[in-house]
Amino acid sequence: MIANYHTHTRWCRHATGEIEDYIQEAVRKGLRAVAITEHVPHSQNFDPRRMQWEEFPAYNAELDRLIEKYQDQIHVIKGFECEYYPFSLENYKMFRDQYGYKLLILGHHTNKDRTADNFARKGEAEMKQYADEVIEGLRTGLFTFLAHPDVPFCGYTGSADFALEQMGRIFAVCEELGIPVEINANGYRDKRAYPDRRVWELSRQYKLTWLINSDAHEVAHLCDEAGVGGTEAFARELGIPVTEWFDW
Ligand SMILES: [Zn+2]
Ligand SMILES: [Zn+2]
Repeated sequence: MIANYHTHTRWCRHATGEIEDYIQEAVRKGLRAVAITEHVPHSQNFDPRRMQWEEFPAYNAELDRLIEKYQDQIHVIKGFECEYYPFSLENYKMFRDQYGYKLLILGHHTNKDRTADNFARKGEAEMKQYADEVIEGLRTGLFTFLAHPDVPFCGYTGSADFALEQMGRIFAVCEELGIPVEINANGYRDKRAYPDRRVWELSRQYKLTWLINSDAHEVAHLCDEAGVGGTEAFARELGIPVTEWFDW
């Protein structure tokens, strides 16, 4: 791994470690770039286990300070991981255009009207809704890449063929729009239902750009053998040509 484009810190209230700890770990591991991509805050403060809206100025000041401090050692990128919430898109653009959060990751953990958790138990209707919403989100043109497209395999009880068909619809749009797709090392490390081997086998039928990210929620996971190393081996076994460097 020479760059990691998906990193959390204690600011999201469900991870540990300061921003600086992650940057230092990235330098130690020889990375040339690291994107700090906290879960985006919302003015409604929906979730106590996310950065609160009022915390953004302090977070942003700290991140800016560290970007300058480490500028000669590593390229630190400002980003946010975002659900596709149509009512929040103006804020996402505000973070991008006014504060330089240029890497907006689509990580659709909750559905677009916040009535369902995409990790929860679900059937085919919810799987299709997930795909519909991700596709709608991708078509906004706001998002740089798609995190863990296979997250809804958590809790899924419907037929595998149906789910793979929905993943195929997502991959077709990623191919059409040239949006990279992430094989997520946090799911791999945590032995979750994603990354799902069948999904990534299917992905090879599309002309995609694949990347592997740590999605670290603790410093030791930033560039770890069990998570990142394991996911790299997983991709190699499937013959997926992973892209390691982006000009972000
Ligand atoms: Zn998280
Ligand atoms: Zn994440």
